[in-house]
Amino acid sequence: MKCEKFIAAYLSLDNGQNPSLLMRAHSLFCKKCREEARALALHFEEIRSMAPMQNGRDLAESVMGIIKHSRKVYVKKVSAFQWVTGEGIILASIVLVQFSPAKIWLDAVLGEAFHIIMSVTFGVIITLFTAVLVITHMAECNELLINVKNKFVEFIR
Ligand SMILES: [Zn+2]
Repeated sequence: MKCEKFIAAYLSLDNGQNPSLLMRAHSLFCKKCREEARALALHFEEIRSMAPMQNGRDLAESVMGIIKHSRKVYVKKVSAFQWVTGEGIILASIVLVQFSPAKIWLDAVLGEAFHIIMSVTFGVIITLFTAVLVITHMAECNELLINVKNKFVEFIR
């Protein structure tokens, strides 16, 4: 067996497959191939240790466990200023749209029905926005209510 044939045969071995008798005989007498095979085996071992699947076990479970137990909370915070600005923009648009030429024209063309539809739409928008604000700020809202209650009780006394 020639050295090139040995290396080619060694590389074509499946994971854990034993080399043939001819290959073993060659490596026994050829120091160069023996060292080459040992170096390749070390490389393969290194690659196997870096692979995400070890012993066929999926690492997803352990990674998710680490994420679950980590204390970091990845939540994008919307500041109070942004909430108030959003609410202000909605309220301002409700007021300002009354003076819009398009609204005046649509009122003239469609009459009262359009007025009702627009009022309901704005009502739904402002209600949803406020609901999201309250739901996402439950703790702060609770604190605020307790403060208001305490102030009221103090005021009554
Ligand atoms: Zn050789």
